[in-house]
Amino acid sequence: MTRTVVLAGGVGGAKFSLGVREALARRGDPPATIVVNTGDDLWLTGVRLQPDVDSILYALAGVNDRERGWGRAGDSERVHEEIQAWGAGWPWFTLGDLDLGLHVARTGWLRDGLTPTEVIERMSRRWDLGARLLPMTDAEVDTVVTVAGGERLHFQEWWTRHRATLAPIAFENPGIEAARPASGVVEAIADADVVLVAPSNPVVSIGPILTVPGIREALRETSAAVVGVSPIIDGRVVRGMADVCLTAIGVETSAAAVAAHYGARRDGGILDAWLVAEEDAAATAPVAALGIRCAAVPLWMRDVEHSAAIAAAALSA
Ligand code: GDP
Ligand code: CA
Repeated sequence: MTRTVVLAGGVGGAKFSLGVREALARRGDPPATIVVNTGDDLWLTGVRLQPDVDSILYALAGVNDRERGWGRAGDSERVHEEIQAWGAGWPWFTLGDLDLGLHVARTGWLRDGLTPTEVIERMSRRWDLGARLLPMTDAEVDTVVTVAGGERLHFQEWWTRHRATLAPIAFENPGIEAARPASGVVEAIADADVVLVAPSNPVVSIGPILTVPGIREALRETSAAVVGVSPIIDGRVVRGMADVCLTAIGVETSAAAVAAHYGARRDGGILDAWLVAEEDAAATAPVAALGIRCAAVPLWMRDVEHSAAIAAAALSA
């Protein structure tokens, strides 16, 4: 019986989580605990958004919009249009009506005094998710991006409005030094047999999770094997703008460089093993030289079948 923890961001994290759920079910293992990045959360027109949590929630529930890659399938935008007519919100940040229903419910429960962990637990009851979702922390540590010229933007403004075209100098999560891991996170990592680092953005998805004081330490101390999956295939990001983020923190956009950035556990990093894409088979030797077991396997998460094969490979790495 393998107890599994997954560290995940939004879209890449969601595709991987679907594969993990499938792979664990086939092995007869219990559902995974998924620790989700909350670094790109935000307040918008009075409601609290948790984009990465929602991406994973919707994907596991099977109600996500697969074509667009975010939000609910078959959603409409009547409320968004009305908010725009009031001159409120952000015109470039669309919120679907069904999606807004979740944000309003979440905000109400937060106002009632529930923690984000409790809110996510409550939201998870609506569907049979086949996994336990935990936020990385209950603290509000929304990402701030400093761009060339010194302007500071909320992550979503930089990412969604400017499509990451303004050169970033630094990513910060103000207040994260004082944040604590959400209840259950450290315990899940300590009790796990395997911790999987999803092929998510290493800087703005996995980065914040590792920056919450206590999580990196828990990963170092656990007796679980910590296995990462490369978000970089053939020297390129599959989707999204992780390359811009990596460049900003001085890491090359390659499977080997991301492994080195996470580091080997024996050297104070977090990884025991790292899966790279077949296209990056040449990276296996340099990664192994870092003290990280490395294998090259197909890493395109085309559908659940492919994601499940990747998850199975990671579980047995
Ligand atoms: P976000 O929070 O929505 O940006 O999503 P994540 O941080 O979870 O995932 C974004 C990362 O997923 C990007 O850096 C992509 O390179 C990676 N990614 C997306 N699709 C795939 C895939 O099919 N295979 C692999 N290996 N990585 C992928
Ligand atoms: Ca994200």
